[in-house]
Amino acid sequence: MTEDNRIRRIAIIGGGTAGWMSAAALAKVLGPAYARITLVESDEIGTVGVGEATIPQIGVFNRMLGIDENDFVRRTKGSFKLGIQFVDWRRKGHAYFHPFGKFGLDMEGVSFHAYWLRLRAAGLAGPIEDYTLMAKAAEMGKFMRSVNAGNSPLSAISYAFHFDAGLYALFLRDHAERRGVKRIEGRVVQVHQRGEDGFIRAVQLEDGSEVEADLFIDCTGFRGLLIEQTLKAGYTDWSNWLPCNRAVAVPCEGGQDIAPFTRSTARDAGWQWRIPLQHRIGNGHVYCSDYISDDEAAATLLANLDGAPLADPRFIRFTTGHRNRYWDRNVVAIGLSSGFMEPLESTSIHMIQSGIAHLLANFPDRTFNPVDAERYNRVIRTESEEIRDFLVLHYKATERDDTPFWNRCRTMAVPDRLAEKIRVFENSGRTFRENEELFNDTSWFAVMVGQGLVPRTYDPVANVLDLETTRARLDEIRSTVAASADFMPRHRTFIAQHCAA
Ligand SMILES: Cc1cc2nc3c(=O)[nH]c(=O)nc-3n(C[C@H](O)[C@H](O)[C@H](O)COP(=O)(O)OP(=O)(O)OC[C@H]3O[C@@H](n4cnc5c(N)ncnc54)[C@H](O)[C@@H]3O)c2cc1C
Repeated sequence: MTEDNRIRRIAIIGGGTAGWMSAAALAKVLGPAYARITLVESDEIGTVGVGEATIPQIGVFNRMLGIDENDFVRRTKGSFKLGIQFVDWRRKGHAYFHPFGKFGLDMEGVSFHAYWLRLRAAGLAGPIEDYTLMAKAAEMGKFMRSVNAGNSPLSAISYAFHFDAGLYALFLRDHAERRGVKRIEGRVVQVHQRGEDGFIRAVQLEDGSEVEADLFIDCTGFRGLLIEQTLKAGYTDWSNWLPCNRAVAVPCEGGQDIAPFTRSTARDAGWQWRIPLQHRIGNGHVYCSDYISDDEAAATLLANLDGAPLADPRFIRFTTGHRNRYWDRNVVAIGLSSGFMEPLESTSIHMIQSGIAHLLANFPDRTFNPVDAERYNRVIRTESEEIRDFLVLHYKATERDDTPFWNRCRTMAVPDRLAEKIRVFENSGRTFRENEELFNDTSWFAVMVGQGLVPRTYDPVANVLDLETTRARLDEIRSTVAASADFMPRHRTFIAQHCAA
């Protein structure tokens, strides 16, 4: 019989979004009989406190926890998100939409993208946004959840959320504590390693008490108290491809309407986010300090708000990249401690979710066979690289030549995998989702078309339908999308009816 070597004690260090998401998920999946879970957090240090836009995968996480969606939106003063509008990214005065879900309908086994490119080449297509309900509804300020309506696009409404990150952490804390997670308030001042192998034995708090565990989850944010300051896992810097290294954030008053999408507006040396919640709008300016000072960045942000600011601007510094080992010995880094990419496509909270899912899929026992950590590290690294490439595309594929920052981005060499994706698209208009990468062919297509890449020709298999049939079918899709968007309630009305804070 094999020995029961199961992990008996888990210590999560840090109580930001990463800490409480980890605590809630591990408590739900493992249960109190499996292992005792303790979370240590320090009110004095606080959390990074931003991170308010998400992608649809978070719905899977919340459902796994058994969370009622209306309750979640209400308690986090949240709103719904149908995608991201990119303003001034391709050139000043231009805007496009990266929707969740899909464009149009694949027909005869051929992708909708191919038919649309063919029709566009013939001068007969409308803007790509006309062929997806997510973009059309966003434009009209509408939102509802999917209903059972057969082939109608109303049956497949894809969405994510905007929420107050601090309230989400509190909401999850509630869930985790009800499932037996013990919370300790206090600052970790020392980390004790075992002599023989350098595994972490315990963390020591200011009052001298120690928290011992078999497995430690480092959720201490950018500082990486265990993974970096103690285990020296190392960091790979990606700023050559994603040069922004600072952000300044400020909430402001919102208006009557709540836009059901995130807006990203390119600025001279970076970009600005706008995330509408029920009670305010979250704003931030992500920029590169080589080209603009902190004061100028804050001034740009404050000059471009929809309403009066509700707090002083907060500055955050970061280095884009990732930890060389996310999992080292008995420490797994999740959240900002594991690395960071700017929130251009709202991927950080998803990476927390992914870290938790892969930890559970490769869950160790007390022998900590390195095989589990090796696999985990490889999978998370690949996922990060794929997201990185998608973000780099936004900067590289631009016509902007009006500032030194944009000239640098437009002319930079990009990672090989991205260079190949661009070559493939420029040849035939094809986009692919490789392996299990997060962003699918629709996302790649939306951003490549939106940023102004033009394929040499369309996918030849689109010729299976003659041009007139293609035109008639796409016109029908377009009018069904418009009629469906008309039918939907306003986003504000939907929230008032279902989940007002
Ligand atoms: C500018 C910016 C914008 C972002 N926007 C988005 C977005 O729109 N969407 C998205 O998905 N993500 C976004 N993110 C990322 C998101 O904010 C983070 O992924 C998320 O907040 C998780 O943070 P965290 O929990 O890892 O770290 P933190 O929030 O920094 O939490 C760290 C925790 O560790 C504790 N701690 C640290 N040291 C000690 C110690 N010595 N003793 C005890 N406790 C300690 C702290 O008290 C705190 O509880 C953004 C990030 C930035 C910087």
